[in-house]
Amino acid sequence: MNWLFLHSNQILTFVKSITDGKLLIVPVLIEGSWHLQAQNPDSINEFPNSPFRATESLKTFLFIPAESVGGEIPSEKETVIFGAKSCDLPALQILDKLFLEGAFEEPFYSERRKKTIIIAEDCSDCLPSCFCVAVGNTPYPENTADLIFSDVEGGKLVAAATERGEELLKKHGGSFSAATELQLSEQKEKRNAIKEKVKISLQEQKIEIPENIAEILQKKWPDKIWEKIAETCVECGACNFVCPGCHCFSLTDELTSEGKALRTRVWDACLSENFTRVAGGANPNKKREVRLRHRLERKFIAPYEAEEGYACSGCGRCIDACIGKLDMRKIIQEVANA
Ligand code: SF4
Ligand code: SF4
Repeated sequence: MNWLFLHSNQILTFVKSITDGKLLIVPVLIEGSWHLQAQNPDSINEFPNSPFRATESLKTFLFIPAESVGGEIPSEKETVIFGAKSCDLPALQILDKLFLEGAFEEPFYSERRKKTIIIAEDCSDCLPSCFCVAVGNTPYPENTADLIFSDVEGGKLVAAATERGEELLKKHGGSFSAATELQLSEQKEKRNAIKEKVKISLQEQKIEIPENIAEILQKKWPDKIWEKIAETCVECGACNFVCPGCHCFSLTDELTSEGKALRTRVWDACLSENFTRVAGGANPNKKREVRLRHRLERKFIAPYEAEEGYACSGCGRCIDACIGKLDMRKIIQEVANA
């Protein structure tokens, strides 16, 4: 990557010039949690970033929870999202593959994705639920985002990871200079330190995630283990909804009071009993433990067999959101030790 340096006194000018009339989404600290929210560019006083990932993933803005898909494709406003983290980006690759690269390009996602600039930055801290390093990810972005930022003494290092990012730097990067060897080694040091911090956080919580997750989950474990694990699941679907990579949806059709047909796409959740229920009431995944196991298999076995790595980036959102206190790291550990 070609790293450039932006002095701290140029940062705000850069943020404002890149935003220029677009919708701006930034991380905002609300009651102790970071949330991605629309913000007036004039109210920004510093580079918009959070120490770790926000509660919402990028999915919330690109593949929105409920939308009308029966009519015209709306023209979306150009948007800039600051504060994406490394654990958001593999999920974006999953959504892009599914909605943009198949035989059929999904026009609603495509319209938003093409008009959204993604700016990512290294994590400087981690949450107890973070486990990116245990699933082959890093706490610093290396691809997919248009621009990637790292903190260094006196400013930021920035690199483009897409063609759009290159164009942005050409257009708005007048005040950048080439990164020095010293700055690059400072970046390396900081990146190693945050990686180590995530590992130590896992050790302190006594969480040991084995490397061969796919092999462990592939074994035929007695149903009793899964029954016990799934005991506290209340089927709220929060784990699916907060996951940056979960993308299942259902379509509902209704008549409005004016007699117009309305087709709506809404996020669906494989933890819900209705997810696989078909006409006549048959349901191959009627049992809760089967559904829970199915979710883990979809995250760790199917993509692994297709040589695509894991479909889980270790963001930990499903752990924080689970009302039943289910923690997929501990589930894997429990199954491995069974
Ligand atoms: S968040 Fe927890 S309780 Fe809710 S469906 Fe997922 S596993 Fe079950
Ligand atoms: S499965 Fe959980 S930890 Fe993995 S990417 Fe989804 S929300 Fe994050």
